[in-house]
Amino acid sequence: MVETQIRARGIRDPRVLEAMVRVPRERFLPTEFRDLAFKDSPISIGSGQTISQPYIVALMTELLQLTGKERVLEVGTGSGYQCAILAELAKEVFTVEIVPELASRARKILENLGYRNIHYRIGSGFEPWPGEAPFDRIILTAAPPSLPQSLLEQCKIGGRIVAPVGVGQQWLMVYDRLKDGSFRRTKVIPVRFVPMVPETRP
Ligand code: SAH
Repeated sequence: MVETQIRARGIRDPRVLEAMVRVPRERFLPTEFRDLAFKDSPISIGSGQTISQPYIVALMTELLQLTGKERVLEVGTGSGYQCAILAELAKEVFTVEIVPELASRARKILENLGYRNIHYRIGSGFEPWPGEAPFDRIILTAAPPSLPQSLLEQCKIGGRIVAPVGVGQQWLMVYDRLKDGSFRRTKVIPVRFVPMVPETRP
C-alpha cells in the first residue's frame, strides 16, 4: 500500500511513510471489511461515515509538516486511523467526533494499540475545544462550506490548518497563519469528503 499508492504518488516525507507502515490500518475497519484495508479508496465504516483513502491520509499528514513537537487538533475522529498516524508524528492529538458511537469505537481501538498522547472529545468541531487552544496544527476530515471562525481562531501564529472545504466541489486547502494573524490560503487538489455536520443550536 505504502509503495504503490503513497510513495509512487509523490509523498516523500520519510516520517509520514514510516508512520503509514507502522499503523495497522486493518484494525480500524469493521471485521467484515478487513480484507479491503489496503484498497486504494475510502471505505464505509458505518453510521454513514468513511475511513479516508490511504493516499489522502498521507497527503494531508505530509501537509501538516509535523516534527514531533506539535499539539494537533483533529476534527472528525471517524475510524481513528488518521488520528493514529497523527499520534505517531505529533506530541499530542486532540480529536473531536460528533457521532458518539464512532468516538467510543475509535477510542477503544486507539487505546488497545497503546496510544497515550490522544485526548478525546464527543461534540462538534464547530465549537472550540475548551481550554486547549491555540493548536500548532489543525486538520479537518469532514468538509465545512467555508472554514469556520472558531477553527481559524484556534490556530497559533505560525501554525497551519489542512482542510477539505466547499459544498459540491470541495478543495483540499492549506491555511498558514501569518505573523499579523491573517491567513495565507493555498488550494491543493479537488477532494470528496463527507460534509461537516452543521452546528445545531437548541
Ligand atoms: N479521520 C477519519 C475520517 C472520518 S470521516 C478517519 O481516519 O477514519 C469524517 C468524520 O467527521 C465522521 O466520523 C463524522 O461523523 C465526523 N464529523 C462530521 N461533522 C462533524 C462535526 N461538526 N464535528 C465533529 N466531527 C464531525
